[in-house]
Amino acid sequence: MLKRENVYVTKNFEETQKVAERFSKRLKGGSLVALYGDLGSGKTTFVQGLAKGLGIKRRIISPTFIVLRTYKISSKYQVSSIKQFCHIDLYRIENEKDIEGLGIQEILGDPQNIVAIEWAEKMGGLLPKKRIDVGFEYVDENKRRITILQLS
Ligand code: ADP
Ligand code: MG
Repeated sequence: MLKRENVYVTKNFEETQKVAERFSKRLKGGSLVALYGDLGSGKTTFVQGLAKGLGIKRRIISPTFIVLRTYKISSKYQVSSIKQFCHIDLYRIENEKDIEGLGIQEILGDPQNIVAIEWAEKMGGLLPKKRIDVGFEYVDENKRRITILQLS
């Protein structure tokens, strides 16, 4: 298995969004971005950058109480048939059983979607092997270490 790891240290939230925006250009239809890290480590901030890179103008808010939000990608930004960006936040999910009722499997299986999942470790055995892992570490108030690991 080929592994590519990129590490970034950002000094403010705008830098985290910039890293994500640039990274978004590597995504294709069916890509899954799995985000890991404590509360406040920058996962949602990163997702906002992803959305910006995909041309989404709507404000990305933390879907903590909603679990899943879907955003249309305008035709101008659609490459390799991407139609939607799905932002999932599993913070409030207790176990794999809860996940089965959410329809996440269908969303992940659709090559027209790009999916970002916060607290992806809660997927357990349901988390697809083909994905990009992004880990967030709190260094200090404004500094975060971001590790992007592509498994392919
Ligand atoms: P999570 O989704 O992991 O809980 P959020 O992205 O919602 O985290 O929150 C991160 C918080 O930390 C935001 O208030 C953001 O402004 C702040 N912050 C400070 N420095 C950074 C940085 N370098 N990268 C990302 N967020 C940062
Ligand atoms: Mg969040």
